[in-house]
Amino acid sequence: ANSVLSSYSTTVFEVMSRLALEHDAINLGQGFPDEDGPEDLRRVAAEALIAGPNQYPPMMGLPVLRQAVASHDKRFYGLNLDWQTEVMVTSGATEALADCLLGLIEPGDEVIVLEPYYDCYLPLIKRAGGIPKVVRMSPPDWKLPLEELEDAFTQDTKLIMINSPMNPVGKVFSWDELEALAEMCLRYDVFAVCDEVYEHLVFGGQKHYPLLTLPGMRDRTVRIGSAGKSFALTGWKVGYICAAPEVLAPIAKAHQFNTFTTAPHLQKAVAEGLAKDRAYFDGLIKELQGKRDYLSKELAAMGFKVLPCEGTFFVTVDFSGLYRGTDEAFCRHITTEAKVAAVPISVFYEMEGPTQMARFCFSKKMSVLEEAVRRLKGLF
Ligand code: PMP
Ligand code: GLN
Repeated sequence: ANSVLSSYSTTVFEVMSRLALEHDAINLGQGFPDEDGPEDLRRVAAEALIAGPNQYPPMMGLPVLRQAVASHDKRFYGLNLDWQTEVMVTSGATEALADCLLGLIEPGDEVIVLEPYYDCYLPLIKRAGGIPKVVRMSPPDWKLPLEELEDAFTQDTKLIMINSPMNPVGKVFSWDELEALAEMCLRYDVFAVCDEVYEHLVFGGQKHYPLLTLPGMRDRTVRIGSAGKSFALTGWKVGYICAAPEVLAPIAKAHQFNTFTTAPHLQKAVAEGLAKDRAYFDGLIKELQGKRDYLSKELAAMGFKVLPCEGTFFVTVDFSGLYRGTDEAFCRHITTEAKVAAVPISVFYEMEGPTQMARFCFSKKMSVLEEAVRRLKGLF
């Protein structure tokens, strides 16, 4: 029998990474750093792995990590979270997103999504029985389209998903935009699920504000973070959720039957990571900002139209001046011919979106970015 799952395509990250591997290409497609995160964190994990215990940790997460999340959020955002009732550990932000959708909506509820959206959002909403209402944002600045957003809210809207800093386009929502979002969430009485996995990757002195900190939003907003991005440990899949007790409770119900828990040695190490001083997080930004600037400048010199990137580790280009085919053809072309992989932007759209844009990940060693630039210059 057919199910909604049979209509799923294979995620672009698997497709492009496989193609990159086949062609021995530099993979600037799937987003991951090519160097592992801090050695001290890896050492904590290794030692905890040997020392144990290695049995099921508590369902909500190890107290040490939940306390670390609460202190981190106090330090960076002035939030006062009760670690016992308002923080839960998940196996990556992806699990957190799935838990939120399974826990907070009922079949038939409408869920607003801003487009382009991270690729797992729509499949997860549909699988949870939700009806996606997609609101499109437009280049080059991807401003929140207030009128279209207002039109998307109905009596049946249960939840809105917000991803800031935003994958794939690197937008960081401004305070004014968040205020407008908060005002609509309050007026229509909906939950906001905020995917903030790039919270520490914000450039140019701009600031990330969790929607959870806005007036009136404390009891209807979920904040999701991940160790993958903040500590360059994407393979660990350690995420966390912060929300008011009544909001977290149904999400925890979903979590108990999804993964129940997360590897204890990794939880211990991430707790140490979240306690790192400002110098660590500032260093992360400084290094990535230099890489963003280098790759953006070189791509622009080749003739690409480079869109602004305020956060994340992705830069988006419009290649229409250099290549005539679709974005999928472009990404295949540069992977097989220049041996540099990227990701087409159209996969982050429900219906036909822009077809002449691609995303490059710049969280790579400088020498790797330089080699990628050399190769692309041979083609363009
Ligand atoms: N949300 C966004 C916007 C992402 O880019 C990613 C991927 N890195 C995730 C969620 C998933 O994070 P995790 O690897 O922690 O599951
Ligand atoms: N978030 C990563 C990206 O946008 C990919 C994660 C994955 O491969 N599922 O590239």
